[in-house]
Amino acid sequence: MLSLHPDRTAVLMSNKTVLITGGAGFLGSHLCDRFLDRSFNVICLDNFYTGSKANVAHLADDKRFTLVNHDVCEPLVAVIPQKVDLIMNFACPASPVHYQKDPVYTAKISFLGALNALELAKKNQARIIQASTSEVYGDPKEHPQRESYWGNVNPHGIRSCYDEGKRIAETLFFDYQRQFELNIGLVRIFNTYGPRMAVEDGRVVSNFIVQALRGEALTIYGDGEQTRSFCFGDDLIDVILKLADNSKLTGPYNIGNDVEFTVAELAEKVRSLVGTKVKIDRKPLPSDDPKVRKPDLSQTKRDLNWAPKISLEEGLKKTIPYFEQKLASLKS
Ligand code: UDP
Repeated sequence: MLSLHPDRTAVLMSNKTVLITGGAGFLGSHLCDRFLDRSFNVICLDNFYTGSKANVAHLADDKRFTLVNHDVCEPLVAVIPQKVDLIMNFACPASPVHYQKDPVYTAKISFLGALNALELAKKNQARIIQASTSEVYGDPKEHPQRESYWGNVNPHGIRSCYDEGKRIAETLFFDYQRQFELNIGLVRIFNTYGPRMAVEDGRVVSNFIVQALRGEALTIYGDGEQTRSFCFGDDLIDVILKLADNSKLTGPYNIGNDVEFTVAELAEKVRSLVGTKVKIDRKPLPSDDPKVRKPDLSQTKRDLNWAPKISLEEGLKKTIPYFEQKLASLKS
């Protein structure tokens, strides 16, 4: 599990209310914990499309925690009548397997979810943070990717529902800032992993760990030479909170880890850390799969005084026991 954060010792009562859409998801649920640690009232809104009640079950008895079962494609104003001071818009499936399952719904969540969250922020005059993604860069021709890069995105491929969805969401955010002077912040999240990912998440880190633990072959798509830079969840949550706190900063900010690995290198690391000799099963590379990805973090490091601390090896060592437990609980 993610370690207990020093914020938990905070005694200062903030009396502020944060709405976290997608609050029962992998990242959203960690945000719920951390905002409660900071004495916020937390409204966690989720329809459990990919989020899980188990991720927030430990918060059920906390009087400052409210769980609202709602789809962000429907207006939020009616279901959140109370005053909110901050909105974290994190509702969206983020794994290619999940966002491609119902691409029209993914596009709707990306656009309508952002629109509905922005409308609520406007009504409350609240700061609002958008979980954007490295996918806005598509299959990048600039490497590493800086925030100033406009990307190389296929507008009608199998990843477009998510890539273009998140791009139009960024557009909406900036238009609400320009048109209504809304206080916005945007993070572009690069590949992230850690406890509370679903066993069936489908992304590469969780797939490899789950496969290795089950003694199954690791599925490498394509030749395995494509690269990603993997960030442990704790590191990412730290920088998201920093941006939420600093209402003078807008971004967009790249957030993630800037140490790059090939997918084949990741497979080797997982095999050796799990301590198994499972085989590699080569599968076709899905279309539009980015060949390289690594964030240029210089702007984020400078403005937010942050850098990722947890190496891939350390992060995997914290994540493997989580999946071990999850798999054991599925058996029992
Ligand atoms: N991938 C893989 N095996 C898997 C899952 C993914 O080789 O079981 C590859 C995928 O083709 C991509 C990379 O790993 O090149 C990262 O995929 P992921 O789904 O984690 O996220 P993406 O970065 O593509 O959004």
